[in-house]
Amino acid sequence: MTQVYNFSAGPAVLPKEVLRQAADEMLDWHGSGMSVMEMSHRGPEFISIAKQAEADFRELLGVPDNYKVLFLQGGGLGQNAIIPMNMVGRKPQPATIDFVHTGSWSGKSIKEAKRYANVNVAASGEASRFTTVPPQETWQLSADAAYLHLCTNETIDGVEIGYVPTVQGDTPLVVDMSSHILSRQVDVSKYGVIFAGAQKNIGPAGLTITIVREDLLDHALPICPGVFNWRAVAEAESMLNTPPTYGIYIAGLVFAHLKKQGGVAEMERRNIEKARLLYAALDADDFYQNRVAPEYRSRMNVPFYLRDESLNEQFLAGAKARGLLQLKGHKSVGGMRASIYNAMPIEGVQALVDYLNEFAGR
Ligand SMILES: *Cc1c(COP(=O)(O)O)cnc(C)c1O
Repeated sequence: MTQVYNFSAGPAVLPKEVLRQAADEMLDWHGSGMSVMEMSHRGPEFISIAKQAEADFRELLGVPDNYKVLFLQGGGLGQNAIIPMNMVGRKPQPATIDFVHTGSWSGKSIKEAKRYANVNVAASGEASRFTTVPPQETWQLSADAAYLHLCTNETIDGVEIGYVPTVQGDTPLVVDMSSHILSRQVDVSKYGVIFAGAQKNIGPAGLTITIVREDLLDHALPICPGVFNWRAVAEAESMLNTPPTYGIYIAGLVFAHLKKQGGVAEMERRNIEKARLLYAALDADDFYQNRVAPEYRSRMNVPFYLRDESLNEQFLAGAKARGLLQLKGHKSVGGMRASIYNAMPIEGVQALVDYLNEFAGR
């Protein structure tokens, strides 16, 4: 097989060891004679797979006992509806949700939330074209918001927030960690809700993991679909209906693999090193440009532009010829983007850096 490095933003690269194990177990999982895809989600085999996946995920992220881990469907965008429908009932209607607008994904969350609540955009990075995040002191938070929503890693804009914001009173913090969950250590106890689509740093598309503090399970609006009611899903241990079984299985293999590698602390160490290497090559001169303020540069998604954009096609073709794939930037912002998730080895980043240097004639 040819060696390639896949820089896709998602669905994205998975650890080779995990894919190999899944291949080995494809036709016969642990002597059951069945593929995981063929198993009843209520049978003992699959229940053991799901329980182990949840236990490993909790251990990796240090999820406290007073939080539920829900395996849902509907992706990150689905959560933009599911979360308000489960949370705005905390306050008299119509309630207000606070948002910090840091890029494309929080923008989509804002748009959807308007269907369920008043939206207060407490701060926006739009004036800087989302190259920075307004300082916390300038956020115009509401006194009585149902929650504050933040996307702590903007996958398209390459903006990452590395600190835990301060909230007003007991306002729960809701964060979209889709594209950097498990890439850095987080103190889960500081958040009300953390959610992530699986297809960036966890596993295949189709699974969405939502971590919910228990006191937030019971505020759903009457219009909330039963299948997305957090309390009901939690009570059914994410098996209210058929969960995305194969996605949960692969996620479980990824979690076990991460534990073997040294857990999230080790991932964070490697991710810092990979990001340093790549940004240093982009910053070496003005041939390439990353426009994000250094303190908000994402360790996971690195957008960049060629100074001479007429060379874009040539750059991408040369990259592809070297097995460096999916470097084209998101259509809404153009340019290039290298996503360097947990499963991207440092050798892949080094190969990209070598190519960046060569193409720039350094
Ligand atoms: C990919 C992504 C999503 C949404 O993904 P879908 O599963 O396609 O709905 C949401 N938020 C962020 C930050 C993402 O990177």
